[in-house]
Amino acid sequence: MQAVDRLDRALDHPAFAPEQLAEWDRAEAFPAEACQVLDDFGLPAYYVPAAHGGTLTDFNELVQLLRTVARRDLTVAVAHGKTFLGAASVWVSGTPEQATRVSERVRAGDVYSWALTERDHGSDLLAGEVAATKNGGWRLSGEKWLINNATRGHAVCALVRTDPAGGARGHSLFLLDKTELTDYRHLPKVPTHGIRGADISGIAFDNALVPDDAVVGAVGSGIETVLKALQLTRTMCVALSLGAGDHALSLARRFVSDRALYDRKLVDLPQVRRILDEAEVQLKLAEAVSVIAAGGVREFTAEMSVISAVAKAFVPGVVQRVINRLAELMGLRGFLADEFAKLDRDHRIVGIFDGSTAVNRHSLITQFPRLARAYQAGKVSQPTGEFDPANLRLSSPTGCSVLNVVNRGTDFGAAVEQVHEEMAAYTPSARGVPASAFALAERYELCFAGAAALHLWQDSDPDAVRVCLSHVLECLR
Ligand SMILES: Cc1cc2nc3c(=O)[nH]c(=O)nc-3n(C[C@H](O)[C@H](O)[C@H](O)COP(=O)(O)OP(=O)(O)OC[C@H]3O[C@@H](n4cnc5c(N)ncnc54)[C@H](O)[C@@H]3O)c2cc1C
Repeated sequence: MQAVDRLDRALDHPAFAPEQLAEWDRAEAFPAEACQVLDDFGLPAYYVPAAHGGTLTDFNELVQLLRTVARRDLTVAVAHGKTFLGAASVWVSGTPEQATRVSERVRAGDVYSWALTERDHGSDLLAGEVAATKNGGWRLSGEKWLINNATRGHAVCALVRTDPAGGARGHSLFLLDKTELTDYRHLPKVPTHGIRGADISGIAFDNALVPDDAVVGAVGSGIETVLKALQLTRTMCVALSLGAGDHALSLARRFVSDRALYDRKLVDLPQVRRILDEAEVQLKLAEAVSVIAAGGVREFTAEMSVISAVAKAFVPGVVQRVINRLAELMGLRGFLADEFAKLDRDHRIVGIFDGSTAVNRHSLITQFPRLARAYQAGKVSQPTGEFDPANLRLSSPTGCSVLNVVNRGTDFGAAVEQVHEEMAAYTPSARGVPASAFALAERYELCFAGAAALHLWQDSDPDAVRVCLSHVLECLR
């Protein structure tokens, strides 16, 4: 049996009963028993690449596993999946010794958190003030906030300023093992709109002494490592949205099939069927983007700066729009403090953390000139075999192969060409990024979604391609 099916069966456990999950949510209690079910299944091994002794060979499998958890409960998926984010920098830039140690601990069930953000600086990582000075090892001071699992985590991977002048080479990553760390405090759990049971807190360092071998990668390489690790974690985050989308659609389907009005079932009303059909098409496009993005980690590694930004900007946004529409369809049952309202609240965080939608669009905009040139040249990346983090790049040398090969002689191809012409005409300005560039990035994401559907299903499911492209063209008009 496939791992995804085995996991789905393992989740038929009392800790995943909707009433139990709702009770923890109401009490803002951490779903520890549900996380234990995932540990017992062996999910942590999928957070560790096979090269370091784990089970991760195929990112699509990891996405499908986390989607399976998120379909049952997003709070649990966010709480447990965080360890992949906390460890990812070590897979990208750690020494073999660090990777071995983290691999052993993650597979044994230790929780890793990833502390990038600070209260006053949000998305502006270069402005981070948590600082380390060299002094018989390193001395760390300052606060990281809001951090998922900052309190419950056994270890934290923190981005820290190591050059007072800051800048792109002025920050370093530190892997902090709390069993060896002193002079630190946890900051209180913060009440949140969704994922109420998760440990959303922070950590403060008070001149904490850290050994030299806690630095991940070279001193000063923290921002570069984070930008590369984000290419993996943003790709993984789409699983959270896919699972929430599946969950919302299944609750809505059940509701319209059971609900009788005007002497017939709600599902028999044409307008209701239309809403469900539209939701299905949008979720299909989200799925296409996710599959290509997760496969891209191995297949188009050097293009992941583009692909992961598209995936993280597109998928949570589409899924949230689907949830909003289905909430209307559910009527008052979308508004009661119930399973649907919980997943709606929980999902809102996915478009915010690990780089908001705007941050990902901004990162695409900075690559517009290069993407347009690669498209005009019809560049295609060469397959690289097994995933090797050394092939991750801060900007893609070949643009986006999936879009570069779209046949220009079709309506969809013409729309893709038009978007690239506008990207080629875009001139970066010192006065800031105009709103029109964000709208163009959104259209680029739609083009990617259409191309992803074509790439995946043009032979196996031409009907799916037809409805997906028709939806994309309608949105692009
Ligand atoms: C539940 C939860 C869990 C979290 N977990 C973690 C964690 O584990 N580790 C961690 O490091 N952080 C974590 N965060 C922090 C999260 O990553 C931040 O919310 C994020 O960095 C954005 O910061 P901010 O919300 O303060 O918004 P700001 O950065 O202050 O942004 C405000 C607004 O400006 C927009 N914006 C930002 N940059 C641009 C731009 N370049 N162009 C256009 N618009 C822009 C944003 O999209 C947003 O709408 C978590 C947050 C929450 C709520």
